[in-house]
Amino acid sequence: MNTNHNVTAHIDLNALHFNLNVIKGRQKRPTKILAMVKGNAYGHGSIGIAKALENEADLFGVACLDEALRLREAGIDKELVVLMGFFDAEDLKAMDQYHISTVIHNQRQLDILEKTKLQNPLSVWLKVDTGMHRLGFPLPAVRAAYDQLQQNPKVIKPFKMMTHFSDADNPSCPKTKLQIERFLEVTKGLEAEVSLANSSAIINWPDALMGYLRPGISMYGVSPMESKTGLELGLKPVMTLTARIVTVHNLAKGETVGYGSTWACPEPMRVGIVSAGYGDGYARLTKTGAPVLINDVKCQLIGRVAMDMITVDLRNCPSAQIGDKAILWGQGLPIEEVALHTGTVPYELFCRLTSRIHYEYHP
Ligand SMILES: *Cc1c(COP(=O)(O)O)cnc(C)c1O
Repeated sequence: MNTNHNVTAHIDLNALHFNLNVIKGRQKRPTKILAMVKGNAYGHGSIGIAKALENEADLFGVACLDEALRLREAGIDKELVVLMGFFDAEDLKAMDQYHISTVIHNQRQLDILEKTKLQNPLSVWLKVDTGMHRLGFPLPAVRAAYDQLQQNPKVIKPFKMMTHFSDADNPSCPKTKLQIERFLEVTKGLEAEVSLANSSAIINWPDALMGYLRPGISMYGVSPMESKTGLELGLKPVMTLTARIVTVHNLAKGETVGYGSTWACPEPMRVGIVSAGYGDGYARLTKTGAPVLINDVKCQLIGRVAMDMITVDLRNCPSAQIGDKAILWGQGLPIEEVALHTGTVPYELFCRLTSRIHYEYHP
């Protein structure tokens, strides 16, 4: 086997199980887990993650039908739910054929469901818009949608009802409390299993912990809040992204590195060229000063990120040499820190990872 991959995502499945147990421990009542594996499992590889969680999650959540079909093709036979649901009868028939569950969030979907002939009963999650205004039935329309599903013999009963929070990452914002109240009010007396909580609600809003929890980023060991790292929340990073030093230069004072010559050496110094760039998904917007871990020493990115390489200031790490491993994030270097130097959130850094990345799953 070729072990000389330029960029490797090491996936620590022990950490994944650990994090899921931490999440389950947040809820006193028995917990059901709708594990989010959308976006290629936040860049962790949806097939590898789904296989690892087959016994621990009750079902998996994906954004779109293509993501669900990819998991089915890989032999994942657990329940899958498509968050955006279906666009037309053809999508719905594919869901029927592959036993894929769907969110229903608008009237058009309800009408397509009425008209389309299905082979099997369909598992449905009715989405309620309690204030996010992304997907879901507005509150006044929920009862009619509920009744329509209830009367539809194609739908498995009881079906589920869900909502999504806009501000759960902010513990002092009163909107989440309002959204919980609206959801409880509109579902009162209805026969349905419910689901409200994403990662930030799991962490910040115990009142939202009922029915199915829907963890994404926290399961991968990363904080949904900008103010905290996953480590500080008692989670362990699942992904450690590594590259290697390709070459080392001794540069004179005033020499510049990389495209645009945006960074100049303030003194004679060693710099390392590391084998990762935006072609691997390491963001070009990541700025000079972003941390890169080399031989357990925190070094700094300097100059512009190129497609295949970055440059690192090696003044902190005189031992560094060609072939040494560079950790871009993960063990010893929270992705949250890199995100701050990129002006984005860890979610986006994960989702940028490209097919050039090599994955290794460590049981
Ligand atoms: C992505 C998503 C989640 C998971 O969010 P995290 O912040 O990653 O936990 C939960 N619910 C819905 C509807 C989502 O789209």
